[in-house]
Amino acid sequence: MGEAITLRPDGTLNTPKNPVIPFVPGDGIGPDIWGVARKVFDQAVAKSGGGRSIDWLEIYAGEKALREFGDTLPEASLEAIRKFRVAIKGPLTTPVGKGIRSVNVALRRTLDLYACVRPVRYFPPVPSPVRHPELVDMIVFRENTEDVYAGIEWPKDSPEAREVMALVEKLSGKRIREDSGIGIKPISRSGTQRLVRMAIRYALDHGKTSVTLVHKGNIMKFTEGGFRAWGYEVAETEFGEETITEERLWKEAGGVLPQGKKLVIKDRIADAMFQQILLQPEEYSVLALPNLNGDYISDALAAQVGGLGMAPGANIGEGIAVFEATHGSSPKDAGKNIVNPSAVILSGAMMFDYIGWGDVATRIRKALAESIETRHVTFDLAKQMENSTQVLCSEFGDIVLEHLEKCWLGNAW
Ligand code: NAD
Repeated sequence: MGEAITLRPDGTLNTPKNPVIPFVPGDGIGPDIWGVARKVFDQAVAKSGGGRSIDWLEIYAGEKALREFGDTLPEASLEAIRKFRVAIKGPLTTPVGKGIRSVNVALRRTLDLYACVRPVRYFPPVPSPVRHPELVDMIVFRENTEDVYAGIEWPKDSPEAREVMALVEKLSGKRIREDSGIGIKPISRSGTQRLVRMAIRYALDHGKTSVTLVHKGNIMKFTEGGFRAWGYEVAETEFGEETITEERLWKEAGGVLPQGKKLVIKDRIADAMFQQILLQPEEYSVLALPNLNGDYISDALAAQVGGLGMAPGANIGEGIAVFEATHGSSPKDAGKNIVNPSAVILSGAMMFDYIGWGDVATRIRKALAESIETRHVTFDLAKQMENSTQVLCSEFGDIVLEHLEKCWLGNAW
């Protein structure tokens, strides 16, 4: 019988030796990749020793939940995630049609998982569209609840859109074209600061040397500009001992981190940052962004290192987190045992880091990296990788398991 992960008064997690971890295999290709990933996780935990094991608990969401319980996101599933604090899920299909909510969005909103966290690094020899993908090693903290994604919108010609337009004209003297749809972009100080706080804590805990606030504050002064100002504010007021702004670093310290300082806080305008990630990726480490910028840059970075099949992620709140691959349920490939399980395997590695089992996470990443180096890869990578052999999803899983086994015997850790 497993036990629940609990939260200590200081906000850190207390992970028992045999934690209960709820999982959702997911829709479409979900069961294919989950079946492979779970074996990898169990073996990595067993090999890491310490008498540890995972007590997996299946919970229901998406199409399977709809079939069995008439609800795509049953309350019992949400309750289980709240109780056990850490969960992992496969992709969920959002049925196309009016009024059908996205389960993914509902999960994030209901559990207030306010940070979408995506690490991006390169696994050679995965095909990449850039010349030096190995220079990319970033982790994106994207705000998940505000901005133009807040869901406050009215269609063209609706009474609400007209009323808002009239109010805007009254308040600002500016006329909006009558045939406009209207959306609202709220960005709050509290919403920004909890996100930037998480990014800074992560950077300090993992020995990273910079956090970059990415915004479009030159144009949207009170929303994106607010994000920048409030981000610097939280760095200064809560982490003043350990952090220094880039401006002060150069003005006062000649560009060298002064004694005692561990982290440089800098900011970049979003459009310039899209150039930077291509031209000078080695200068960036942890990024904190509002929702829309974060959405774009996460996918751009994933593409730089080889695409969605390799992109892990997590949605994290206060002492609660749901880990998931970035890609969707790719219904056309479902049940064929052909897709790449790497993204969900790497999401699991993030999960082990999060619960304090960094040794398990390292094992998984190392075994996965070595497996990809064999050039026996799934179709998405094989079609672009020279001298590669295409293997099935489960066959790739077996290669990862072999490497987990070998690494242990070779005492490679
Ligand atoms: P998708 O990610 O499912 O597919 C996009 C492309 O990437 C397809 O060509 C697919 O073959 C490829 N792909 C995806 N995962 C792969 C893998 N592991 N290995 C190899 N190739 C892979 O995106 P989509 O087609 O836009 O969406 C399909 C469904 O997934 C929709 O219902 C959407 O709402 C849902 N979705 C869910 C999530 C989530 O659960 N977090 C995220 C994105 C999309």
